[in-house]
Amino acid sequence: MSITRRGFLESAVAASLATGLNAQNNNNNNNDGESSRRGKRPIIICAHNGVKYLDDAFAFLKNGGDTLDAALRVVKGPEDDPNDDSVGLGGLPNEEGVVELDACCMHGPTRRAGSVGGVRNIKNVSLVAKAVMEHTGHVMLVGEGAERFAVAMGFPRENLLTERSRKIWLLWKEQHSTDDWWGPGLADPHWEAPALPSTTPPTTAPHSELWQQRIQRLEERAAELGIEPEFRAAAVRRVLSPPTGTIHCSALNDKGEISGCTTTSGLAFKLPGRCGDSPIIGAGCYTDQDVGSAGATGSGEENIKVAGAHTIVENMRRGLSPLEAGMDALQRIVRNYNHDMNKLQFIDVVYFVLRKDGAYAGVSLWSGYSEKPHTIVVHDGTRRSEVTVSLFKGASHEFPPFPVAMPKELTKDSVYVK
Ligand code: ASP
Repeated sequence: MSITRRGFLESAVAASLATGLNAQNNNNNNNDGESSRRGKRPIIICAHNGVKYLDDAFAFLKNGGDTLDAALRVVKGPEDDPNDDSVGLGGLPNEEGVVELDACCMHGPTRRAGSVGGVRNIKNVSLVAKAVMEHTGHVMLVGEGAERFAVAMGFPRENLLTERSRKIWLLWKEQHSTDDWWGPGLADPHWEAPALPSTTPPTTAPHSELWQQRIQRLEERAAELGIEPEFRAAAVRRVLSPPTGTIHCSALNDKGEISGCTTTSGLAFKLPGRCGDSPIIGAGCYTDQDVGSAGATGSGEENIKVAGAHTIVENMRRGLSPLEAGMDALQRIVRNYNHDMNKLQFIDVVYFVLRKDGAYAGVSLWSGYSEKPHTIVVHDGTRRSEVTVSLFKGASHEFPPFPVAMPKELTKDSVYVK
């Protein structure tokens, strides 16, 4: 995929918006104008990794359960799951091999919020965010203070780094630089001198021999580290393109009460102390009982700069549909880079948008891989996955910009460990 021309950008945006508006009309089976479009209530929308927990949360909501508690039921599932390496237990760690988690929540009916950032050793940070909301006069706690608060509230301290995530981190640590002492040293029988500048080909282009060798070395090292064969390709891909991963969930009951929450282990191998958008009220999640709720996954730094979730809710307040509101936030990200596709190709954001009347939208900067497009999961009596409406067609490239083309066994599918 090579997209560099402004002209393409503009036509892609126009085409996406046109498709999107149709999609929304179809979703709502209603073509008679913005103001009269209604969704169904109750309804829950969330990221794809919440799908297994949606039936239970929907039944809870339908039986009169609180909207925030319903949303938390969804996101607690991946937090507890050691095989989901995007949140909670088993989340990929920071560059020092330590798992640091972020989360926030907003309760529409009581107009309250809670948030925690950079929390170590506590897996259910979404529930800690709720505890901050309910049991303190603050909105946000971070780092050691947040951990101590969680322990005081009865949350158990536990080691969040699973063996698989530790080994993936170690693989990353060993290969991400030749300028340190990590990885097999000179004395190792398999050590090979790195190519000197004079002998290095101009680039390690995709499919070049060097690149293939690099992947092969990583796979061999993954085997030596004891990463199971079925997870090796995924591990190598995570090392070459450190992934992001998060879950957002918004829930609306039949009375029109609405809440939202977002939880994450953030960007894999981030700098210690880095907080992304997920715990930032107004960026990773925002809920206003009068209007609706929105949340985000993807490039946190970019979403913070446009206060994405808040922007979307405010857009809906002034009459934009969920789809238009989300598209406008994406356009602001594009504007921040002056429409420069050379940079935008390394960014991706998905927005989950739910209006108080049950109308909703899932939008994304990029559509994703054709075999694995971005989706949102919806339950309004029927549970289903829906492809997002995207601003650009194709998949973003992860950052840092390693050569993009991967061998077959390293397709996007291998990103997901399960
Ligand atoms: N937005 C999250 C962050 O930047 C990561 C993600 O959604 O994948 O921390």
